Amino acid sequence: MKIIMLGAPGAGKGTQAKKIAEKYGIPHISTGDIFRANIKGGTELGMKAKAYMDQGQLVPDDVTIGMLLDRISEADCTGGYVLDGFPRTIPQAESLTEALNQRGEKMDYAINVDVPDEAIVTRMSGRRACLSCGATYHVVYNAPKSEGICDACGEALVLRDDDKPETVQKRLTVYHDQTQPLINYYQNEGILVTVDGTKELNEVFKDITAVLGA
Ligand code: ADP
Ligand code: ADP
Ligand code: ZN
Repeated sequence: MKIIMLGAPGAGKGTQAKKIAEKYGIPHISTGDIFRANIKGGTELGMKAKAYMDQGQLVPDDVTIGMLLDRISEADCTGGYVLDGFPRTIPQAESLTEALNQRGEKMDYAINVDVPDEAIVTRMSGRRACLSCGATYHVVYNAPKSEGICDACGEALVLRDDDKPETVQKRLTVYHDQTQPLINYYQNEGILVTVDGTKELNEVFKDITAVLGA
């Protein structure tokens, strides 16, 4: 099963993608996590990406597309995957469609996690992230078992640099300009599913699994 998660920054894509990956036994591929791992490791790719990420801008397509297409060519992706944070632009979506076409494959679902902008800033200010395994928490809505520590891997949780309110506003503008058009793109492809992302996170997951099947 090959799935794309769509939605604004903070809509809950990562949270749901992790649950999908676990339930269906497929890898969770987050371009944001790949960039953050590169920043942490001090690679050239990481340095390049950081300059854009800190400004709330998208990393250019020429860097991002190749990186993602390489990742989905790896051996663990033969049984499918869940993409979180890619595609984010029409050229990214077109490149993905074309790369899959060449292999006689297609995406199965694009799940749009719908959350209005008003709810996003609250979510982001309470988000805490594990830069080691990519898990995210919320101080109120999804607190870790012990404060400041990742349940999954024991690393210290951080407030991401780009989750400050000013940067979040910028990311929302970028989302509306560059990413929201993908909702129509995947509607036209006939694979769009929209779920109400304002529900409690286990409710959102139930709505998603109702579509994906057992
Ligand atoms: P969010 O949790 O807001 O959805 P991500 O972790 O997916 O954030 O992405 C963080 C940042 O990484 C983005 O604001 C952007 O700068 C960069 N990024 C991630 N994925 C992409 C992509 N597909 N194209 C361009 N930039 C990306
Ligand atoms: P995205 O990957 O779309 O940027 P995340 O999955 O990281 O979003 O979620 C953003 C923040 O909102 C996190 O702090 C997360 O714990 C919290 N969150 C996710 N889903 C819900 C939900 N349904 N209700 C309340 N908070 C949520
Ligand atoms: Zn962790």
